[in-house]
Amino acid sequence: MPNIVELKKINKIYGEKTQNPTQVLFDLSLNFEESSFNSIIGQSGSGKSTLLNILGTLDKATSGDVFINGRNTQEMSSNELSKLRNESIGFIFQFHYLLPEFTALENVLMPYRISKKPITEEVLNRANELLDIVGLSKRKNNLATNLSGGQQQRVAIARSLINNPKIILADEPTGNLDSDTTEQIYDLLREINQRFKTTFIIITHDRHIAEKADRIVEILDGKINLDITK
Ligand code: ADP
Ligand code: MG
Repeated sequence: MPNIVELKKINKIYGEKTQNPTQVLFDLSLNFEESSFNSIIGQSGSGKSTLLNILGTLDKATSGDVFINGRNTQEMSSNELSKLRNESIGFIFQFHYLLPEFTALENVLMPYRISKKPITEEVLNRANELLDIVGLSKRKNNLATNLSGGQQQRVAIARSLINNPKIILADEPTGNLDSDTTEQIYDLLREINQRFKTTFIIITHDRHIAEKADRIVEILDGKINLDITK
């Protein structure tokens, strides 16, 4: 499979123009194949979130290049970047950031509301289908506050898929869930990967979960320490 993401010699220095700049990523190069299911592990503070934010164009590298779908994002304007993110990348975070006063269905449709795109019947059908895939069709009219933690994370997963992105980036998506729910959520992500051929890059501190991926990349002090493909 061709690469969908390519990172070339990424360096990241926080506080570059301050008294104590901190370098967190060092000449890091990494590629991800289309449709692959990857996990990123590493100690707290090793640079995983920084790496994922740069990969998702939410943050800029101090130097180096990020290619998404063959396009170099380093030269893109912030408008072009948000368009690229909207069309190609879905995000899942540890804290799902659902809007509590909206229903599950409304939360899944939120990316459309925010970008003021019309919610056509096709979009509505897709939202319903996604809620069905994550096992929540019966709860779609529940307010987000009336769902369990695991159910809320399922809504966040459905929401991340609403634009049919080619890439899903997840930063400790089960970090605050119990182990049974964690297992179920990972099985669900895997199912989505197989069904839609979505590329997944998932940060986790759970080794057992990481081992379910096709590939494990370990970051240590801002460098790649291990890169194992099954
Ligand atoms: P991880 O996700 O692996 O725990 P992070 O990427 O969040 O690691 O952080 C890596 C290092 O960069 C840590 O030492 C952290 O304190 C530092 N860091 C993260 N974000 C910032 C920031 N915005 N400004 C300064 N330092 C930061
Ligand atoms: Mg982190």
